[in-house]
Amino acid sequence: MDSKDLSFNSKLIHGGDFKDALGSATVPIYQTSTFIFDSADHGAACFSGESDGYIYTRIANPTIKALESQIALLENGFGGIATSSGMGAVNTVYLTLLGQGAHVVSSAAVYGPSRVVLEQQYTRFGVESTFVNTADIEEVKKAIRPNTKLLFIETPSNPTMDITDLKACGDLAHSLGIPVAVDNTFSSPYLQRPLDLGVDIVFHSMTKFINGHADVVAGIIVAKDEAMYKRLRSTMINFGCNMDPHQAYLVIRGLKTLGIRMDRSQENAMKLAQYLEQHPKVSWVRYPGLLSHPQYELAKKQMNGPGSMISFELKGGLTAGKVLMDNVKVAILAVSLGGVETLIQHPASMTHSKVSADGKEKAGITDGLVRYSVGIEDVNDLLADLKQALEKV
Ligand SMILES: *Cc1c(COP(=O)(O)O)cnc(C)c1O
Repeated sequence: MDSKDLSFNSKLIHGGDFKDALGSATVPIYQTSTFIFDSADHGAACFSGESDGYIYTRIANPTIKALESQIALLENGFGGIATSSGMGAVNTVYLTLLGQGAHVVSSAAVYGPSRVVLEQQYTRFGVESTFVNTADIEEVKKAIRPNTKLLFIETPSNPTMDITDLKACGDLAHSLGIPVAVDNTFSSPYLQRPLDLGVDIVFHSMTKFINGHADVVAGIIVAKDEAMYKRLRSTMINFGCNMDPHQAYLVIRGLKTLGIRMDRSQENAMKLAQYLEQHPKVSWVRYPGLLSHPQYELAKKQMNGPGSMISFELKGGLTAGKVLMDNVKVAILAVSLGGVETLIQHPASMTHSKVSADGKEKAGITDGLVRYSVGIEDVNDLLADLKQALEKV
């Protein structure tokens, strides 16, 4: 059976391009930097592309290729490009599409460094950027200029959980010949498949849900068509932000349980969001699974589930939030997200601290906002933990 015909959860176990000569049931780690050519002619053929033999691990490696082909299969794309980190993926997208004098329109509430690198590094090369609430298509329309070369979207947004209409943004950008790239880290392909909605490029910090065990930093990009795939791959190879075979091995191992991990963490998140929403010390909760979410309907249409990221603010603002974060005992006070363990953090002073005060305000990142990444623990322990910490507030 062609793995393309399998359902998603079976693709997690059996998808991907890999056949071991010795019959290994799992993908082994090809811990090698270089590969032996059969002959001088074979070496030349590998370089010219006549042969698909391996050359050198920065260019391609069987362990890494197994992972790339599996994620490409899950995202319904042409091909995957694994990177050293999520930021390696972000910069490969930027470097491929943005040149001297180019302009990018981006979601305002994106992963902090995705924004900061544009504002603090790419400006040195004449790249301009505009940050808008991409959940409002009119704002996107207004921000586009003749030199706009990329529409960069994160949905649900980080950490405000706004939902951007990917189909509408894709239609708008394509009518103007602008490619669209989507950071799908918060949802993973289990809950959202942007390429199916007409987007050109999807990428992940696999550090988060895809690996899911808080023990690897890794990224990946999937392009919808071959031409874009080739451009992105050449950037990755030449800038050297490749993955290591051992990293790939760990991600392949974590990926197998993506479906069951996401089911459990999402189920937990729904209960915790409902608990927080009715708590008298909480001023607001943003979770796409709650009816109170302004884009509840869009989330339902565009995603296969609301995920396990929650943001909320206590009535006592930052002071109260700090008491909560210092008193949780099951949840871990740490940045990152998408692992089996529940994490809590304060974006304004942590993940988004390098974003300017004005940038934070426009993106809706208030000082009191607390971000909660719900894991797969027993939900009763998580509820009890929140309850006792909120009593101290
Ligand atoms: C973590 C993260 C990144 C960056 O990934 P790294 O693996 O830390 O480099 C990018 N986007 C989102 C949404 C993230 O959560």
